[in-house]
Order: sequence, then structure tokens, then C-alpha cells
Amino acid sequence: MTKMPALFVGHGSPMNTLERNGFTDAWRAFGRQLPRPKAILVISAHWYFGATAVTAMARPRTIHDFYGFPQALFDFDYPAPGDPDLAGEIVELVKPNWVGLDRDQWGLDHGTWSVLAHLYPEADIPVVQLSLNALRPLDYHLDLARRLAPLREQGVMILASGNVVHNLSLLKWNEPDLAYDWAERFDDAVVAQITQDPDNILSLAEHPDFPSAVPTPDHFIPLLYTAGLAAADSSTIEPLVRGYSMGSISMTCYGIGAEVELRSDPTCAALLPGGVPPDQTNM
Ligand code: ZN
Repeated sequence: MTKMPALFVGHGSPMNTLERNGFTDAWRAFGRQLPRPKAILVISAHWYFGATAVTAMARPRTIHDFYGFPQALFDFDYPAPGDPDLAGEIVELVKPNWVGLDRDQWGLDHGTWSVLAHLYPEADIPVVQLSLNALRPLDYHLDLARRLAPLREQGVMILASGNVVHNLSLLKWNEPDLAYDWAERFDDAVVAQITQDPDNILSLAEHPDFPSAVPTPDHFIPLLYTAGLAAADSSTIEPLVRGYSMGSISMTCYGIGAEVELRSDPTCAALLPGGVPPDQTNM
């Protein structure tokens, strides 16, 4: 079986679910060009709580975990099946770490479905979500990722969904394409670190722009899973898309073993280096 690529996707606003822009067109290109997985394990920034758990229900519900957005977003449904067998395998794989089987609490949150709506719009591939344990130190997540790495050889795509730079208190709502200097500096530092030495990604916590870029760890921790997967078998990790939104959000995406050609895709022309994706188009 083909070793599955792994992805980190900067998901940005929940409205990306319904909109078409340079970023969502890139996610669509990933879905078209990458091998079709048997199942998808998603590590989403939005399931951040005090335990490590994995969704184990046959039919995970679509959770609308936000407020203040248009009704159309609350009406969105992503009816992908779950995969209780895969959830059970994950429990075994990560031992002696404990992972709880969630049979009826969570489901798929918008960190998952805002991206999968474009990656796999048919919603016909089983999806399980792994929570981010908020009580554990950052290196716990790197270790857990290493233990999950063998799933890539079983046809499972591991998708981490967060944002490398994510500071909501400094958002400039009226400037969709703005990037603060410090946001660009930190995003550049992450590219350099993760592509050259993903095992030491936690050294970024000492970066002078870390407190601004990562005021809370929830959107950064998913990146640790992608870094840990790369470190597990010395896989090459590379940025697939780079860009910023509203000053203090980085939309950068990374791939491991992900051969995607965006430049030849006319809908992604806006993603050429230095280009700024259109805010909202009908592409
Ligand atoms: Zn988010």
C-alpha cells in the first residue's frame, strides 16, 4: 500500500468552508492530486481540552463550534462516516499513553470540516478526530505523533488543522491580505526550522515573536503532529502554500510526501510565490 502523505493545513476563518479563494482552491488541488486514503485522522485545533480522546462513533455529527457567522455556515453538514475500528487501533498504537474512545460526545468540528469540505467534498472517506490534550506539555504531542506514524503505511492520511500564526486579538478584519512583520518573521522561522530539523521544532518557543504568534497553543499544536510525523522516519516536509490573512493569521500549509503541483492548476495561479490569494472569488 502507498505510504499516505500527511498534511498540515492553515484553516483560517470558518467562512473558508463556503468561500472559494486561493487557499481553498489549493486544498481542492490537494484532494484531486493526492492518493485517496482509506481513512483520515484529523488533529484539529478546535478539540482542545483536558484529555486525549479519539472519536469512535460510526456517524460523527457535524459540530458548529462558533457563533456570529451566517446561517449558511450553521446549515453546513459534512456527513462523512466515522471509523470505530481505526479509533481502536489508535488506542493500541499509542500505548502506554492513554487515549479515550469517544462514542457520543464530540464529532467533527469546523477545524476538520472547513478543510475537508474542499479536500474531499464528497464526504465519503471515513474520518476520526484526535483531541489535543491541553494538560500535557508540548513535547507530549511530538511523541504522540511519532507513535501515530505507522498509520501512514496503512492508508490513513493524517491531517493536522490549525494555524502557525494565530492571534485573534490583533486581527485586522478590514485588511484580508495584511501580514504583520512579526507574523511573517515567525512564519519564515517555522519554515526554516520544520524543513531542516522538525525534531527540534520546540526550539521555536524561544523565538522572540512566539508570544505574539502563539498567544494560546491550540492552533500551533497541530503543527507539532506534522513535525513529529516527519521526524519519525526522517521524511521531508515542505511548505505547500504560504500566505496570511487579516494581519495575524498565517495560512501556510505543509506536506509530507505530498506531491502537489499548484502552479499548473489555473485556479491556484494566485498562489505563486509572493502572490496574495484573492479574498473571495467565484473561481
Ligand atoms: Zn481555527
